[in-house]
Amino acid sequence: MVASDLAEGSPRARLGWDDGTPRLNTDHDRVDPTPILQRVDADQYRLRVPVPFPISHCHCCGADEPPQQSAVLWPELVDEWGLSTTEAESVDRREGQFCPVCQASLRSASLALAITRSMGWRGPLASWVDSGPTLRLLEVNRAGNLTQWLERLPGHQLVEYPHVDLQSMTFSSRTWDLIVHSDTLEHVDDPIAALHECARLLDSGGCLCFTIPIISGRMTRRRDSLPPSYHGLSSDPIYRVVTEYGADFWSQLFESDFDHVELVPLQWPDAVAVIARPRW
Ligand SMILES: [Zn+2]
Repeated sequence: MVASDLAEGSPRARLGWDDGTPRLNTDHDRVDPTPILQRVDADQYRLRVPVPFPISHCHCCGADEPPQQSAVLWPELVDEWGLSTTEAESVDRREGQFCPVCQASLRSASLALAITRSMGWRGPLASWVDSGPTLRLLEVNRAGNLTQWLERLPGHQLVEYPHVDLQSMTFSSRTWDLIVHSDTLEHVDDPIAALHECARLLDSGGCLCFTIPIISGRMTRRRDSLPPSYHGLSSDPIYRVVTEYGADFWSQLFESDFDHVELVPLQWPDAVAVIARPRW
């Protein structure tokens, strides 16, 4: 897809869809466009084995430089989270592996790939932004370091949670084509309400791209009855973890007016981003 494919008009046209079918990448040697969860009929899905993505360049800025790595986790969080050594190393790669040029973390890169993939764009996020898409984009909290690109889009708006309540926002229904948030949902009291709200705001053909920390070898648990744990060195309530997501994280989407979920495993199991589309 090139910039000229994006015409003014319907949400589908803005997203580069002219026949209701996402124009996903056709270069199968590079990116397999088949969703990990494929819809078989109205209520059935089948799982597809994830295909690892070669990380030959930065999916944010496009730089072809070897990623660098720094340690991010601290012992108290590892203990509170109950992470094994392998799981802690995985989270450290997700948060501490970064592009030496734009500083994007592996997590940000996975979200960038989800965004470009959802738009049918083959190339880094920076080149997609430069192509001038005219979609309406709501960013809830700064999505890692992606804001520097996303804010260049004329239809971009940034809101901050909890200043703006993700569970109950004031926007009219179906007014956005793309909603992005990164590692916010795990801090929300009622994540299903938040996902319902995201679906409500999305127009036909729109999608939600987001990340959450996922420990794939366990199931999701809430920390209501556990000692408080914070994703940050301060005990600011906005960093308090409400939900620790596991392998069943996707079920909240199907409880929240989404009926299509695509997983983007940039580097499995370290960095997986989610593309979700509402049922309308
Ligand atoms: Zn980069």
